[in-house]
Amino acid sequence: MRLCDMTLEELIRPEGFDCACGRHHRVGLRFVRIGRGAVAALPEALRAVGVRKPFIVCDQNTKAAAWEKVRTVLDAAGVDYTLYCFPWARVEPDERAMGSLTLAFDPACDGVIAMGSGVINDCCKVLCHAAQKTQITVCTAPSMDGYASDSSSMIVNGVKTTVYNACPAAIIADTDILRTAPDRMLWAGLGDMLAKYIAACEWRMTALINGEYYCEEIAELMRASLRKIVAAAPRLMERDDDTLAAVTEGLILSGVAMAFAKVSRPASGLEHYFSHMWEMFHLDRGLPAELHGIQVGVGTVLCLKIYEKLRTLRPDSVAFQRAAEVFDENVWESEMRRVMGGSADTLIRAEKTEWHNNDPAARAHRFDCIRKNWDALLRIMDEELPDAAQVLALMKQTGMPMLPGEIGENDQDVRDAFLYSRSARKKYLTSTLLWDMGILEDFLPVLE
Ligand SMILES: [Zn+2]
Ligand SMILES: [Zn+2]
Repeated sequence: MRLCDMTLEELIRPEGFDCACGRHHRVGLRFVRIGRGAVAALPEALRAVGVRKPFIVCDQNTKAAAWEKVRTVLDAAGVDYTLYCFPWARVEPDERAMGSLTLAFDPACDGVIAMGSGVINDCCKVLCHAAQKTQITVCTAPSMDGYASDSSSMIVNGVKTTVYNACPAAIIADTDILRTAPDRMLWAGLGDMLAKYIAACEWRMTALINGEYYCEEIAELMRASLRKIVAAAPRLMERDDDTLAAVTEGLILSGVAMAFAKVSRPASGLEHYFSHMWEMFHLDRGLPAELHGIQVGVGTVLCLKIYEKLRTLRPDSVAFQRAAEVFDENVWESEMRRVMGGSADTLIRAEKTEWHNNDPAARAHRFDCIRKNWDALLRIMDEELPDAAQVLALMKQTGMPMLPGEIGENDQDVRDAFLYSRSARKKYLTSTLLWDMGILEDFLPVLE
């Protein structure tokens, strides 16, 4: 049986799967319960993963959303616990939050319940990894796809960083709790999933251009979870049980696919880099950023436009030659300092000592590969990308932000994010492909 045909329960079997891609796929998740009243299964989940006394972590919003239900269930089952609620109105996933958790942690606890969504989960994964404790997650919003992933998005020394740890052992998603999530969090969950169209397309293309690892089974699992969410999305804002359950299951499946792949490729492409870059700009300016999934949704709209243009072109050796000749490492470096702020030094050093993406010979080799494989690349775009008008209509129907201006990103931030995304990490992105072809700047008008 193929991964995409399995239920979530089948996918999380402890022995994992030997895959046709040559790797063994396995996720540490052992217990999942999604649906109305799912929180009643919390004592069963604790038993299943061997936790007797949980340390429960929440913030003021997630406490208001879930604590009454969680407390009632735990008290009725006679489960002892220690509760910690962050005292701040807004919690950032950084050293301050981790210090606060460490100071409050009750060593008599043998596990952690993350009662929340993105930030609470990210922090609890780090805590559990450091303290070697088992994590159980009680979801409070269908707002992102990291519930089942084995990494946290953290701010380390003022720089947004992916920290690899472990996924929770159990996840409980009660639609009675999820229903109370604000509109923005539902939009964020949808935005994070629509991104998968771009991510899947980019993943397959880079396998061809860059010889990167690719697994068709995982890609198809991701497509299946995306189909599930897109089918449910028109009724998302009505918040009925079936829709909330379908969307949450899709988000959890997406995390499982990421954990199987051990890389972010199945879930994240250039659309996520718009978000990463904007978040970095906001951090540098000391301003709070928009929800991850909402930024990613806007990034997805931009990427759909980029691909619409790319699909009408062919690699042009003259454009490549000209761009390769005028590329000036010094100009790149000074622009990097302007755009990347506090992260510039680290990134410039990484490019020069490890990544070598700017290396003329490597670039020429990649361009050659793109030119020779163009028909195959076009086929991938045809197969992976959705009808843009349909996706835009779906987003519009939910009322979610679709333009950078609606989430406070100005034209300059959009241009900088697009042009320098390829220099933010080693990862080969759609923007790297355009740069390799010598046509990156030709795409700026598309973003307006
Ligand atoms: Zn595989
Ligand atoms: Zn994401």
